[in-house]
Amino acid sequence: MTAQNEADQNQSLPPNYTPLELEKEIRAFWTQNEIREKLEALQNSPKIKGNLGYVEGPPTLNGIPHIGHARGRIIKDIRYRWKTMEGYYMPFWAGWDCQGLPVELEVEKLLGVRNKRESIEKYGMERFIEECKKAIMRYHAMWLEADSRLGIAINQDKAYWTYKDSYIEREWQILKRAWEQNLLEEGHYVVAYCPGCQTSLSSAEVGYEGSYKEVEDPSLYFKFKVTGTKNEYFLVWTTMPFTVITDTMLAVQPNAEYVKVKVGEETWIMVRERVQPVMAELEITNYKITDSMTGKSLEGSAYDYPLKDIIPKQAEIETKHPLVHHVVGEDFVDVNTATGVVHLSPGNGEDDFWAANRKGVPIFAPYDDEVKFTNDAGTFTGIFARDADMIVVEELRNRNAFVKVKKVRHEYPTCWRSHHKLVWLARKEYFLRTDKINKKVLEAAEKVEYFYEEPKNRFLGFLKEGKPWCISRERIWGTPLPMWTCEKCGNKHLVGSKKELLDNAQEPIPDDFELHKPWVDRVTLKCEKCGGTMRREDFVLDTWHNSGASPHARFTDEEQTKYVPTTFLTEGIDQTRGWANSLLLEWVIYTGKAEAPYKAFLFQGLTQDAKGRKMSKSLGNVVQTNELLVKNSADLCRFYMTRKCSPVDFMSFDMQELTRRSYQVLSTLYHLSRFFIQNATFDEFKPSKYSIDWALGTNKLQPADIWMLSVLQNRIEDYTTKLEHCEFNAALAVLDDFVIETLSRLYVPMIRKELWTDDPETFERRQTIYALLHHALKTITLLFNPITPFLSEALYQKIYRQLEPDLPETVNLATWPTPNDKVQNKKIEEQFEALLKVVSISFAARQQGKLKRRWPLAKVIVVAPDNTLQALKNLDALLIEQTNVKSAEYATAVPDYVGGENWVSSQEDDITVFISGQRDDKLLGEGIMRDLARRVQALRKEMGFVPTETLESAHIAELDAESTGLLEPYLEEMAGLVRARKVYLHANRSEVEANWNESELDGKKILINIH
Ligand SMILES: [Zn+2]
Ligand SMILES: [Zn+2]
Repeated sequence: MTAQNEADQNQSLPPNYTPLELEKEIRAFWTQNEIREKLEALQNSPKIKGNLGYVEGPPTLNGIPHIGHARGRIIKDIRYRWKTMEGYYMPFWAGWDCQGLPVELEVEKLLGVRNKRESIEKYGMERFIEECKKAIMRYHAMWLEADSRLGIAINQDKAYWTYKDSYIEREWQILKRAWEQNLLEEGHYVVAYCPGCQTSLSSAEVGYEGSYKEVEDPSLYFKFKVTGTKNEYFLVWTTMPFTVITDTMLAVQPNAEYVKVKVGEETWIMVRERVQPVMAELEITNYKITDSMTGKSLEGSAYDYPLKDIIPKQAEIETKHPLVHHVVGEDFVDVNTATGVVHLSPGNGEDDFWAANRKGVPIFAPYDDEVKFTNDAGTFTGIFARDADMIVVEELRNRNAFVKVKKVRHEYPTCWRSHHKLVWLARKEYFLRTDKINKKVLEAAEKVEYFYEEPKNRFLGFLKEGKPWCISRERIWGTPLPMWTCEKCGNKHLVGSKKELLDNAQEPIPDDFELHKPWVDRVTLKCEKCGGTMRREDFVLDTWHNSGASPHARFTDEEQTKYVPTTFLTEGIDQTRGWANSLLLEWVIYTGKAEAPYKAFLFQGLTQDAKGRKMSKSLGNVVQTNELLVKNSADLCRFYMTRKCSPVDFMSFDMQELTRRSYQVLSTLYHLSRFFIQNATFDEFKPSKYSIDWALGTNKLQPADIWMLSVLQNRIEDYTTKLEHCEFNAALAVLDDFVIETLSRLYVPMIRKELWTDDPETFERRQTIYALLHHALKTITLLFNPITPFLSEALYQKIYRQLEPDLPETVNLATWPTPNDKVQNKKIEEQFEALLKVVSISFAARQQGKLKRRWPLAKVIVVAPDNTLQALKNLDALLIEQTNVKSAEYATAVPDYVGGENWVSSQEDDITVFISGQRDDKLLGEGIMRDLARRVQALRKEMGFVPTETLESAHIAELDAESTGLLEPYLEEMAGLVRARKVYLHANRSEVEANWNESELDGKKILINIH
């Protein structure tokens, strides 16, 4: 039997760590053994410590899952697995955002139509809705695949879907609460409107990341003649000439100084501060200030609105209110830009709207749903608002109202979905008057834990704006606004449930009825005031209102009591204006209390490409989760994304880095585990018999054991605390360091040789080491589970459950490790700290003398204060081994005989280390032997020999004569080191028939054969 076969039969961990294959196997294990179902059953288990409320931030099913999504899902999964192991139940149930503008736009694209009107005309609403449903199901399949590949343990069977009637009904209940508290209002209001999407947007949406784009607009100076004067004008500036069509007033700053400026034959009125810069911009050098006045004194002046002849409605409005086409004083007028004379278009601007509203001036907003002018706009009828800009300029020029126009590039808000330039319009909409409950909302938000200052400030800063929330959308695929209005008397009724609606419907309900347009629009109710017919208001809800309703809508009442407020939620930083906001507002409305539906909210940084650029379709740099994970390991990806940076930082996702550190660490853990089980199996180690408690009682612990155990306890504590604080990257660094430094680089080399024997005398000592390795590696495997669930499950199944079949069925049901105070040993940790420092200084000294670390040298002398020396003397044997010398001396002062070219030294703080640099034949011979032994060890590993297996013989050929001579006395020692019965030297390869492996020693070629 070859070594390879034997290894395969002894245990089921393959010799190499191949994560992709391992993950496939573990995924199948989870499915076959219904692990997810068993985790769900904890819900009703009497053993759980308690419930940790959770509600899923639903991804919108309008696109392919990418690596930015993966980042958030990994964090959620980390918390779920970790808290489950701590003994809690968390309703980690999926949820999907299914409706709204993003889905509709996606379907418009698929159907090849340009807008809502076209899709209704061509396909009809029923067909359009069918397509919306098909689209979300297509994306849903991709999300399921991504979750499965990533190892996200979310329960897909318990998912909520925002488009289902049951969800919609409960969302309506929140609106009902708002209605009862007079927080839901219909009204005219200036909203940001996207002409492309043909719907208004909430102020939160306007502020989205990336929605401000540099665009080109006209920069227009124009003038309105002061009524009754021959040639006096108000000088005005705008970047939106089309708003001159809806102009109704001019505004000045009452406290500022205004002047008359003589330019040619004309006199222009503007604020004094801006005369010089504006004249420079207009390239007018010949001008003179002739008069000065306060802004206040200009109030009430009339001006000749120049476009009355082509917009007859403007002439009509002038007769409706004395302030139309007059100057008013407004504090919001900024005298540091433009001319300090602002033209007001209440139909197109928020400030303008409120100014008109306060004064009772009529709002002139002659627009249809595509933001084209209606008949009221006279000549401009049928023209899209932004297309009217240059026509307006021409008409002003024709009427001597034009001064100058040029192009400016400036930042302007565009639609976050379609990137059309937004237009501000006064429209009839429905609002949640969240401004009225802003104090409660802020109070609720202040109580939440955010973990990091910056996102907290950003969120609270946004909430302070406290604007009313425009929730009505002029779209199709969404939760219908359940408001029915009487045609006759205007009475309004808000429907709170499907049953209420169906019970009161005036006409029979078809079988395929659902709570969507067009079905719901066909239901009319009878007015309880006048008996007239009530029809539904033709709006659907803002999609953010859908997901914001989830803490109520996704649960039953009983579940809601148990799981809300949730304990911890996490989403991207962009959700400060999105989900985090809508959740909070709706919960305060629903409960009437200053309470958030979450106790903690972690805002994650967004994920960018390797160069720090936003991932976008146009740049072609989007990393899709499924594509990535076809070829790459989920564990490595989870490790990388956790370790790369703090969760709040923007992450630059770099494919080059993906498998670097992650593979090193996980592969090291894998091989250490394999090293342990191979040796332990050889000695028939049983954790039930040789437990860690047994080991602690044997008195066989060496300083290195005590140290490693103590460090481990600190790491458990440190890691768990960092997870609690959402410092996931720092937490993982703790495990990373323990695996690579503590175990692999230091502890295992210290104990390895003790396992190279089957001497019955040392049997108990070997069992002690296995008990320690078992304890340490199993602990680390459990701690890794939240981050790398596949590897942890694999090691758990293939090692720990093999050794102890009674363990819980999955690593996820194992108990989270807690530190054992009894094995914490500060003193030995301090001693080791000193030791490791001396070792590191000794390496520096060797480097100065060009003495390789693997060369054995005669002596080390440590010069240090007495207390340091006391600590080191306890670890004398380890110090000698680690510094690779034959003897060590400790002194508080440099001994007399030290110095000269035979010594090298290095110093750090109060420790100086001297090493004797002289190498006699004995040291040279031993050095050669160690070098060769390392090469043989590597070959053993490469050829698949189990560490415990003894070789028949090892052959070295074609070593030079001098080295051969030096090496000969050490052949027996070498045989022991490489676990071979005998080592043979050959001058020439032809002396034995063998498969030679080429190697090299100090630059010279040699040949090795083992068998
Ligand atoms: Zn849009
Ligand atoms: Zn009525």
